[in-house]
Amino acid sequence: MKIHEYQGKELFRNAGIPVPNGFPAFSIEEAVEVYKKLETDKVVVKAQIHAGGRGKGGGVKLAIGPEEVQKYADNIFGMNLITHQTGPEGKCVQRLLIEEASDIARELYAGIVLDRSSGKFVFMVSYEGGVEIEKVAAESPEKIIKEWIEPNDDLKQFQARKLAFALGLSGVQIKHAVKTFLSLWKFFKSYDCSLMEINPLVVTNSDEIIALDSKINFDDNALYRHKDIQEMRDLSEEEPSEVEADSFNLNYIKLDGNVGCMVNGAGLAMGTMDIIKLYGGEPANFLDVGGVANAKTVAHGFKIILSDPNVKSILINIFGGIVRCDRVAQGVIDALAHMEVTIPVVIRLEGTNAIEARNLLKDAEHNFIVANSLADAAEKAVKATGEKI
Ligand code: ADP
Ligand code: MG
Repeated sequence: MKIHEYQGKELFRNAGIPVPNGFPAFSIEEAVEVYKKLETDKVVVKAQIHAGGRGKGGGVKLAIGPEEVQKYADNIFGMNLITHQTGPEGKCVQRLLIEEASDIARELYAGIVLDRSSGKFVFMVSYEGGVEIEKVAAESPEKIIKEWIEPNDDLKQFQARKLAFALGLSGVQIKHAVKTFLSLWKFFKSYDCSLMEINPLVVTNSDEIIALDSKINFDDNALYRHKDIQEMRDLSEEEPSEVEADSFNLNYIKLDGNVGCMVNGAGLAMGTMDIIKLYGGEPANFLDVGGVANAKTVAHGFKIILSDPNVKSILINIFGGIVRCDRVAQGVIDALAHMEVTIPVVIRLEGTNAIEARNLLKDAEHNFIVANSLADAAEKAVKATGEKI
């Protein structure tokens, strides 16, 4: 789960991580009110969307005086902000953050992610922070300095100092940076984050270290431990079909291809997407219907898959272990009896009672394409899209 920058900064503030003074605004009038409340001359008006690159896209503006705040709030509210992270369709801005402008001397970068290749967390910093960090990572990765942390351990004081020195900090800046790095790590761990990026982390002209941006992703599987974070969820920022799938307890992630997939089990779902690609197709989604592939879950699955206009064929891939294939087949037949599905449905069932399942499908009213193997299913599903690759 992701949260907005202003929510992240509120959490940072409570965790002792320095951030500028600021408040969210949900209307132009409120933006001006916040400006007055801040009792400062220069502020920054910032679009709040769940994507980075807002500065470059015109969603971050320095404003001096209430008239400018009003003008920029008016411009940014409701704008369709397009950044390299939103995709070409952009995101409509519905919230703003009005905060004190910092007196920036240097823009640094700090981030923490799970490094899957080493099975450890990695704390990264760069002295070339700011809006071009992707370019730095791609063209001069040596400018990103890393320290690894064992999952059951903590960022150590000496590691934090190493990072601060690598950033070329000096004197009291080092002390502030070390404290901030240790607090960031503590925050990351205690909130079960999966990613955290502070870009820019700035050094001010009075040697303070301040988080000017906050990008935080939380591990969904640990959200039950953090009710305060759950309450920050902004469903309007999420893919609507994924939100709907979530309400049906289905594990669905929308992708860009044209072969819709309905599979039981996450591992098999991954394998199914791989084999679709192997046969020259592109999966339209990841969908794990879980262990209970009955008529109701199958019907919900169809509904969600079909809400994507790019889907040109559907591949149902079920392995019957505990769940019996004939029950799943009956579930699919019952679901389709109540809905109109005009695109080809390829189905592969293997495991417990697979033969009975195939017989049921053969006798069914709906014209299924029954596949004999996973490879056969993928080939048929890709072909059934009728689209050349
Ligand atoms: P994004 O990463 O989405 O572009 P940021 O919050 O990083 O958004 O803002 C982009 C740039 O705007 C920053 O790199 C910084 O130069 C400037 N900026 C953002 N917030 C402030 C602030 N409070 N004071 C001064 N400059 C700011
Ligand atoms: Mg940023």
